[in-house]
Amino acid sequence: MRDKTKLARIGRNAKHSAQMVNLPVYRGSTVLFDTVAQLEAAMAARARHEDMPVYGTTGTPSSFALSQALAEMEGGYKCQLYPSGLAAIAGPLMGLLSAGDHLLMPDSVYSPSRAFCDQFLKRFGVRTSYYDPCVGGKISDLLQPNTKVIFLESPGSYTFEVQDVPAIVEQAKKRGILTMMDNTWATPLFFKPLEMGVDVSMQAVTKYVGGHADILMGAATTNEETWPLIRDGAYNLGQCVSGDEAYLALRGMRTMELRLVQQMHSAIKIAQWLMGQDGVAKVLHPALPHDPGHALWKRDFKGAAGLFGLELAQADQKHVDQFIDDLELFGIGFSWGGYESLAIQGRPPRTVKPWTGGPLIRLSIGLEDPDDLIADLKAALTRFNRAR
Ligand SMILES: *Cc1c(COP(=O)(O)O)cnc(C)c1O
Repeated sequence: MRDKTKLARIGRNAKHSAQMVNLPVYRGSTVLFDTVAQLEAAMAARARHEDMPVYGTTGTPSSFALSQALAEMEGGYKCQLYPSGLAAIAGPLMGLLSAGDHLLMPDSVYSPSRAFCDQFLKRFGVRTSYYDPCVGGKISDLLQPNTKVIFLESPGSYTFEVQDVPAIVEQAKKRGILTMMDNTWATPLFFKPLEMGVDVSMQAVTKYVGGHADILMGAATTNEETWPLIRDGAYNLGQCVSGDEAYLALRGMRTMELRLVQQMHSAIKIAQWLMGQDGVAKVLHPALPHDPGHALWKRDFKGAAGLFGLELAQADQKHVDQFIDDLELFGIGFSWGGYESLAIQGRPPRTVKPWTGGPLIRLSIGLEDPDDLIADLKAALTRFNRAR
């Protein structure tokens, strides 16, 4: 079965849905058993990693349906759900790392992941160092005897560097180091980390799986060897999701491919248009041939998200703010991956290679007509150029 067909079929369970197309929403904490023996059998099944309802925090039919669907899309063994994307980064890292371990993070990583390492993991005796996301196989020079995990995120947040994932994974495997990747941008439709040998693939379900800016959720899918560490970490932290949100995420998956493909085409059209415009210094989009990450993107990815970067010409901050304020069809706000377009300025907190270019704008392209979005950008750019 191809991915599109899978999206229409996964996570449906006739046994639990009274012959309706969709599974109902299961809300609940307590699961009741007829006998003590049944309760004990359920606990034993859960200990064998079976999807067995025992207590609400460790899964309901709603969350099991979603996690099975995501694991299937990722080509993984099992998937753990978390109440946000950030929790799906923090939880697995806590499951994998112990005091005294060393962690490698790309300099282009999502800022809250960086804060988690610098502010939180540090207090528990885990040391983080940052690496140039474009290091490739030379990551071997940065490995220390206690390096336990290499984290990847490709393309990078705000600056969109594409990483050579197979080269980094190869070095990690040689040394028995675990790899974990934030795959929120590509989703498993456009990039499958586990097929590339990555041990843990996470995504913010909040973004393209949800797709409608109405849920917060994260997911970490692993291979069989790594699963116990991730699962036990989540159990110990009490991480779980509600049936209502699991339902919405599964509903989002049905149309995810259609939305992503549309958003990809719109974003490429808009990025190409922006390339020639006065006031635009650079467009950061790996699907465009001029982009430094284009060759790797073309080699490894099946598509591109609707999220890309735009470097404006140097200008006073007030003119940059005005440019964003002038956009009528782009909302000003955090997150992305919904049906509505968004614009925000990024200030990447780099320590290995500080950002030295002009003001960086991140555009999340939604499902509006791209020609309307271009007209909107054109009007705001005209005012920006007049003002700066
Ligand atoms: C948004 C985002 C997250 C976190 O997702 P939340 O659900 O908002 O916590 C993680 N990684 C990347 C790359 C993101 O853009």
